[in-house]
Amino acid sequence: MSKSLRCPHCGTEMLFVGKKDFQLGDMRTFDMVRGFPDGPFPMEVYGCPSCRKLEFFSAEPICDDLECPVCHAKYPRTAERCPKCFTKWEK
Ligand SMILES: [Zn+2]
Ligand SMILES: [Zn+2]
Repeated sequence: MSKSLRCPHCGTEMLFVGKKDFQLGDMRTFDMVRGFPDGPFPMEVYGCPSCRKLEFFSAEPICDDLECPVCHAKYPRTAERCPKCFTKWEK
């Protein structure tokens, strides 16, 4: 599963480096992983052969819906709280 990707830094075609499990505990500073569960998370890594920039993509769908424990409404993982009853999701 590889895609054609241009380096945002220098425009060179990026190469698929591989799949890697990341420990999210080490990546809390990244906005992109906010709201994800703890534990290893599979990522696809692309690298620029020219400037060595790395790009990371989730190997799993990002918009996995959460189910509200109170009203059972489904809403995207990226939401801070349930859009229906405003219950905050406890991790
Ligand atoms: Zn580059
Ligand atoms: Zn709810």
